[in-house]
Amino acid sequence: MNELEDRHFCIPDNNYPKIVVIGAGFAGINFIKRLKDKPVQVILIDQNNYHQFQPLLYQVAISGLEPDSVVTPIRKLFSSCINMIYRMAKVEKIDTKKQYVYTDIGYINYDYLVIATGSSTNYYGSINIEKFSIGLKSINDAINIRSWMLQNLERAVEGCNIVEKTSLTTFVIVGGGPAGVEMAGALAEFKKYLLGNDYPEIEYSAMKICLIQSADRILPTMSENASKHALKILENLDIKVLLNSSVKDYDGEIITIETQTGISTIQSNNLIWTAGVKGNIIKGIDDKLIVAGARIKVNEYNQIEGLENVFAIGDIAAMISSKNPKGHPMVAQVAIQQGKTLANNLLAKIHIGNFKAPFKFKDKGSMATIGKKNAVADLNSIFLNGRIGWLLWSFIHLISITGFKNKFKVAFNWTMKYFSYEKANQLIIRKYRRSS
Ligand SMILES: Cc1cc2nc3c(=O)[nH]c(=O)nc-3n(C[C@H](O)[C@H](O)[C@H](O)COP(=O)(O)OP(=O)(O)OC[C@H]3O[C@@H](n4cnc5c(N)ncnc54)[C@H](O)[C@@H]3O)c2cc1C
Repeated sequence: MNELEDRHFCIPDNNYPKIVVIGAGFAGINFIKRLKDKPVQVILIDQNNYHQFQPLLYQVAISGLEPDSVVTPIRKLFSSCINMIYRMAKVEKIDTKKQYVYTDIGYINYDYLVIATGSSTNYYGSINIEKFSIGLKSINDAINIRSWMLQNLERAVEGCNIVEKTSLTTFVIVGGGPAGVEMAGALAEFKKYLLGNDYPEIEYSAMKICLIQSADRILPTMSENASKHALKILENLDIKVLLNSSVKDYDGEIITIETQTGISTIQSNNLIWTAGVKGNIIKGIDDKLIVAGARIKVNEYNQIEGLENVFAIGDIAAMISSKNPKGHPMVAQVAIQQGKTLANNLLAKIHIGNFKAPFKFKDKGSMATIGKKNAVADLNSIFLNGRIGWLLWSFIHLISITGFKNKFKVAFNWTMKYFSYEKANQLIIRKYRRSS
């Protein structure tokens, strides 16, 4: 028996059913909020002591928002939730027979287990791309992009040859989903409003931005109309968009791209990878239950097949049906709704003996912002773009972000930025060192 398996969490014992939740993302926190003051004991385990608001990470990456505007400390979030205990730990494995969760600080037993571990960047097996590019999936990634970008601009102003300079000032984003499109638009705004002021030694035309997308359109999960409008906005912002193109390799300088007409290359020291995610699987789940995209197969109550008291919610869960053969999209709306529905169902199961109602996804639409005052939004049958789309996007994100202080900070920053870019925070707080 190793040390990990020998040390039980120090938590107060009581007679309430013990629900262990792994992950304080959108799914985990919305599940727990519904259990506040209910006769259950909730133990939340997350490797970080904060909840992060991923939709605004790109704004941290381009110095538009301070990192602490998009993260909320877990203990603060649940300060009034007295039946919830938090432990900062990384879960290593679970044993569904013994009903134990093993972490890097010890183990804990459970009556009910909720896996809400979300997803991480998928490099599709390319070791080089993983090593040399930067993902955009966590606050750490966002700070790394910010540092790397500013470090490279600082290097570009000082005594390097033209080839090196071009590589340092060329920014390539891979992935034409909302994260990639938003990142590209934000970089274009940085170029337009900040480059000239802060880096007068770098010519405006020297900073190049390129977005690479493997499909034949950007924003493929949105309407054709949204894709068309978004493409036009990006091109107006002087962003080169390569469609039907897949990045195959990257050595830190040369990006190898497979296009419909053959292989081509781009030289860039800045590769931002937003081309896909995969579920954060924890050891102890039967391989047969893990489906494409590394997600766990669940039934309509988010219960894992064959496991009466183990559930998965959010990005990690694949609720496969004839209507959704690949499961629901890996977006915040699904995670939030699954968290709330499971809380109601589990309480009913514990206290009445039956689940209340199966999960039904209410799709409220999707949107992406591009640059300072532009967005595209598909709201069921209504399509919005331009300033109105952007205002709606801003409002939705503002009400969704956790904590009043964060809402205030973000609103203040956006208002300042709307009229000028003075409030940007181009700081290299800690240097990013890429693997070599
Ligand atoms: C850049 C970006 C932009 C996005 N924009 C949008 C958007 O505009 N709209 C939208 O709807 N969706 C958006 N999404 C998707 C959305 O953020 C996710 O669908 C959502 O975060 C999923 O929530 P979750 O709770 O399942 O997982 P997450 O929010 O990823 O949370 C998982 C949690 O589990 C913890 N964890 C993982 N493994 C372990 C472990 N082994 N031990 C302990 N803790 C662990 C993590 O630390 C994390 O706190 C975006 C995502 C990204 C990356």
